Amino acid sequence: MNPYWIIDPAGFIAAVLFIYGLKRMSSPVTARSGIVVAGVGMLVAVLASFLYVLALDPAAEAQRAVNVTLAVVALGMGLGWAWWRGRSVAITAMPQMVALYNGMGGGAAAAIAAVELFGGRRHDLTLLIITVIGALIGSISLSGSVIAWGKLDGRINKPWRFGGQQALNVFVFLVAIAVGLYVAIAAPGPYTAVLTAAFFVVALLFGVLMTMPIGGADMPVVISLYNAFTGLAVGLEGLVLQNPALMIAGMVVGSAGTLLTLLMAKAMNRSISNVLFSNFGDVSLEQQGEIKGRLKPVEASDAAIAMRYASKVIIVPGYGLAAAQAQQRLYEFVKLLQAAGVEVKFAVHPVAGRMPGHMDVLLAEAGVPYDLIHEMDEINEEFSTTDVALVIGANDVVNPAARTNKTSPIYGMPILNVDQAHQIYVIKRGQGKGYAGVENELFYADNCNMVYGDAQAVLGKMVLAVKDLVASGAPAQAAA
Ligand code: NDP
Repeated sequence: MNPYWIIDPAGFIAAVLFIYGLKRMSSPVTARSGIVVAGVGMLVAVLASFLYVLALDPAAEAQRAVNVTLAVVALGMGLGWAWWRGRSVAITAMPQMVALYNGMGGGAAAAIAAVELFGGRRHDLTLLIITVIGALIGSISLSGSVIAWGKLDGRINKPWRFGGQQALNVFVFLVAIAVGLYVAIAAPGPYTAVLTAAFFVVALLFGVLMTMPIGGADMPVVISLYNAFTGLAVGLEGLVLQNPALMIAGMVVGSAGTLLTLLMAKAMNRSISNVLFSNFGDVSLEQQGEIKGRLKPVEASDAAIAMRYASKVIIVPGYGLAAAQAQQRLYEFVKLLQAAGVEVKFAVHPVAGRMPGHMDVLLAEAGVPYDLIHEMDEINEEFSTTDVALVIGANDVVNPAARTNKTSPIYGMPILNVDQAHQIYVIKRGQGKGYAGVENELFYADNCNMVYGDAQAVLGKMVLAVKDLVASGAPAQAAA
């Protein structure tokens, strides 16, 4: 039987499963099943790929056993490692894991291109140029993602910047393109292999140079951009191999990565070039302006009791909640408030935390029901009719300077209207700034009190305070 009768429909089925899986990932309620559906799609695509060996040229028959064995060993290693890491990785280390996996995808696309370029030039010029473009993008994604991983994992701590850096980067990029095109266009000669190797080295170097100057905290946006690169590289190499599953999967990843990058940049009111080329977070004092008012610390127990007697509380989680891993404690506190008749909602800013969906994942991990979690646009109107807004480890996403201070790096970023609540409590450890490196005038407002301490410890005290109140037989709601 012709193996393409199975390979082609399998590619189509895999593509449909990828797209359907992605669709289900758009809501937290269906996301888990979406991942399973897309995983089944990947399984179909991988199994179908094994059938290619049946369609091999009879001359390559001798290689069949070796190739299949190598593929099975590689799959076994990949599956084993991913299974172990996927189970053991801490939720806070998820962005760096995504960076590594993404880089491997780019590397795989570059490796396919390397086989094509080193191994006999079986294609016409157009496909060779496409191979080179895919190799360039895949290599940049591989080395750039490894640097992103190093930065997120705290292994590379300082951005690497010097005068003339952009010019050097442009030069290296142009060299990579020139050598790549020469490799594609020139007839095979004695130096083709050396030039092909040089092309890959320069392309990988460009990925490193491009990523090194970008600040560590901008890495999630960069990873999303490299995710789009990886998709594009895979799609292009799929075209070279005439493999529909690779083409479609590459295009889906490429477009999803591009959309995510644009959405993240939009939610931060920044352009992609600002992310790639500006030193975000290096903010001078003059730019911040003077803030009136004073910080007013209160005890955790006082804040907890005020919330216990409120009618409605909106909780704003931020990066500090993830850093403190205080989500379970928070939900314990929420359940105590609910038991006392308080209406509690969560307001999640699209870029709260350090990766897309960070807060949703965190709250889901603690078992917070999805119907309590509201996106910014959905809930922003409600702050003005809310008794208490409780901000936990969030800073930039509630900074009113985004509305008023034109010189602020976050000016124009949509924020949660926490300042409109009747009373605000903010849990944070001290005077640490947010990711953008700017002061937050919200903390100095008349209706705002600070509850200093690690979110885990503060929420622990709040839980105890409410439990003590219940044990003392206090009424559920204060007398009107
Ligand atoms: P921020 O980074 O603005 O602020 C976090 C605050 O948490 C800090 O001010 C810090 O203050 C406090 N904090 C840190 N650790 C703890 C702890 N253990 N316990 C209590 N508090 C703690 O966080 P936001 O979530 O408000 O904003 C996210 C920022 O990240 C935005 O600027 C966004 O643009 C950016 N970003 C988001 C991405 C995403 O995809 N979500 C991607 C890239 C960037 P202190 O030190 O005093 O405790």
